[in-house]
Amino acid sequence: MELNAMYTSLGISPQVLKFGEEIEESLKDRFQAIDLRAEYNQLKVIKAMQKNRVSDIHFAATTGYGYNDLGRDTLEQVYASVFEAESALVRPQLMSGTHALHIALSGNLRPGDELLSPNGKPYDTLEEVIGIRQSPGSLKEYGVTYRQADLLPDGSFDFAAIAKAINEKTKLMTIQRSKGYASRPTFSVKQIGEVIAFAKKIKPDIICMVDNCYGEFVEETEPTQAGADMAVGSLIKNPGGGLAPTGGYIVGRKDCIDRAAFRLSAPGLGKEVGASLGLNQSFYQGLFLSPVVVAGALKGAVFAAGIYEKLGFDVIPGSGEERHDIIQSIEFKNPKAVIAFCQGIQAAAPVDSFVTPEPWDMPGYDAPVIMAAGAFVQGSSIELSADGPMKPPYAVYFQGGLTWYHAKLGILMSLQKLCDAGICTLKNQSKPVCRRQ
Ligand SMILES: *Cc1c(COP(=O)(O)O)cnc(C)c1O
Repeated sequence: MELNAMYTSLGISPQVLKFGEEIEESLKDRFQAIDLRAEYNQLKVIKAMQKNRVSDIHFAATTGYGYNDLGRDTLEQVYASVFEAESALVRPQLMSGTHALHIALSGNLRPGDELLSPNGKPYDTLEEVIGIRQSPGSLKEYGVTYRQADLLPDGSFDFAAIAKAINEKTKLMTIQRSKGYASRPTFSVKQIGEVIAFAKKIKPDIICMVDNCYGEFVEETEPTQAGADMAVGSLIKNPGGGLAPTGGYIVGRKDCIDRAAFRLSAPGLGKEVGASLGLNQSFYQGLFLSPVVVAGALKGAVFAAGIYEKLGFDVIPGSGEERHDIIQSIEFKNPKAVIAFCQGIQAAAPVDSFVTPEPWDMPGYDAPVIMAAGAFVQGSSIELSADGPMKPPYAVYFQGGLTWYHAKLGILMSLQKLCDAGICTLKNQSKPVCRRQ
């Protein structure tokens, strides 16, 4: 079967396909730059594996206490090499990004210390970790106070406010690289380096931690190479390469990582325990594939930006803008469009393509949320996924795609659903029309 006929057989109309092809053609240079970066990062990962003499014995499983787990310990050295850091904690026992962030924070903060966010309100799930929203076991309950410096209206750091917020109690500054579900831009590693240098000038012993979720391998350097004492993330996002079935990482300065490890296991035990249960191979192999998987996700994000920008919607970032994470947001200002978009992503999935997502009242959110995911790993957002809170401005947040071809199909299918719902019309390809509301 010819390629176009294959798309037709999957439900993509010739108009949608043609529209997509023109956008793809216009993004050639972007795609080439993404490939070059992936090539660099692929070599970086191979170099780290060679340097640490990764061998098939490292793929063996340990059970019980997990003492002398050579595969686990070597994997942590590989992560440390990739991030140019002293040490790392890379474990299936770090259950999610939120858990890894919680361990890094609670391991390094003591009663009476203050935590500072220089980028305003942090990611939703951290509100309960910190105690911004009261929750049993929060840092607040342990006597750790919190302060934030809001961003300037243009989304950049407010250095004067940061200087004002730093005081004798300030122990740790947590910087969120990705915009998450906010509408600000994502920070570059360079910008993160600048805010770290600024804070350390005022207070040299401040611990600077970066929530690196969705940022790994998007640039050629990581925040630990720009002065961060710790970088933290989830293995079911970028660095797991789609193969890690669970897990998180904390990488950085040895004393910070050791304190996190004592918190994760127990004082006195630290990094010495924690069976890897046969997961090491997927951690290594996922890290190995990650630069290319991230490149596919980035192409998908740029392609989605290109398509929806052309259709007249506000997209963050724009298709021509430099990227620092894999998240793409599209403001539809139309609830029906959010639903159609998510249903398209779902319909293009390799898993659960026959399911129709609907908005529902998810715990912890103040409006119904619609989510699309047909993933091999539950909740994995390096796999193609989208979600949209059903409230103005009716934006969807879109990310992932283990291969560019899947991401492309998903985005074409999202547009197909918008056309099928009568929201967009492509009859005149050079003057497409989309309805708001
Ligand atoms: C995903 C994410 C987290 C936490 O992630 P979970 O793995 O879902 O707990 C934290 N911060 C940011 C910016 C994220 O994108």
